[in-house]
Amino acid sequence: SVPLGFFGGIGAASKIGVLVKGSNYLEAIAQMKSLVFDKTGTLTKGEFKVSEVINLNGFSKEDILYYAAYAEKFSTHPIAKSILTAYGKDVDLSLISNQQEVSGQGISSVVNKREVLIGNYKLMQANGIDCEINDSPATICYLAVDGKFAGYIIISDVIKEGSKEAMKALSKVGVSKLVMLTGDRKEVAMAVSKELSLTDCRYELLPTDKVSNVEELIKACKKDEKLGFVGDGINDAPVLMRADVGIAMGSLGSDAAIEAADVVIMDDDLRKIPKLVRIARKTLRIVK
Ligand code: ADP
Ligand code: MG
Repeated sequence: SVPLGFFGGIGAASKIGVLVKGSNYLEAIAQMKSLVFDKTGTLTKGEFKVSEVINLNGFSKEDILYYAAYAEKFSTHPIAKSILTAYGKDVDLSLISNQQEVSGQGISSVVNKREVLIGNYKLMQANGIDCEINDSPATICYLAVDGKFAGYIIISDVIKEGSKEAMKALSKVGVSKLVMLTGDRKEVAMAVSKELSLTDCRYELLPTDKVSNVEELIKACKKDEKLGFVGDGINDAPVLMRADVGIAMGSLGSDAAIEAADVVIMDDDLRKIPKLVRIARKTLRIVK
């Protein structure tokens, strides 16, 4: 049977807007020394804005936004929303077919009978598209039409309010290993990592790479030291399940992430995590 004190801990967590799905997780939270984060929507707001459209090879800026918006129309990725907002016009759904999301890379779709690819450098490479590199610390959405590089869209996200404060408070409670895993490029990852003083950041990862990185980080933990993962996306579900403590964002998070998680932060505020660590440790002192 579960000692009554554990329910007190779950209750205290719920009072600060954190759902803990079982008393066993309080023990793991109390022992958490490493915390691994997804970037988009977790450390950053997950609200991208288009800052520049670069058109090449005979395509106009309007063409770039048109093909990009049509290809992204059915995607739930935060990137898709920013491109549709920048396009700003209605999309004729009858012109879109074979839309496929390439997890952690981008989209392939047929738009008005033309083959469109939009996504990161990896997606272009995998499809033999030659594209120029841009080294600005922003996310780049490369666009290819009928196998030809057509241009790219520069988009940026901002660090979420409270992320910096949360990292400081986590270090203070002894969660000393703070790691970011992202599918985004090096330039963006390094900028976010530096701003938040993370201890480690790994970039250009596929969703499966995120799982293997978490497995490796778990192996590096000492006995009685636990690892948590914080994420929000559909892609994050396997990593949330693999971590000792899977933490999902409640309002921005996908249903899949919320389902797979052990802990849900209802308002997505990362500052709740160091508070949760304190509650978990206090609960264990009372129970044991
Ligand atoms: P994160 O690790 O930040 O959560 P994802 O794994 O969702 O990022 O995506 C990794 C990268 O793949 C993005 O930074 C972007 O370059 C590209 N990408 C993913 N989905 C899309 C999309 N729908 N449109 C364009 N690019 C995308
Ligand atoms: Mg993500």
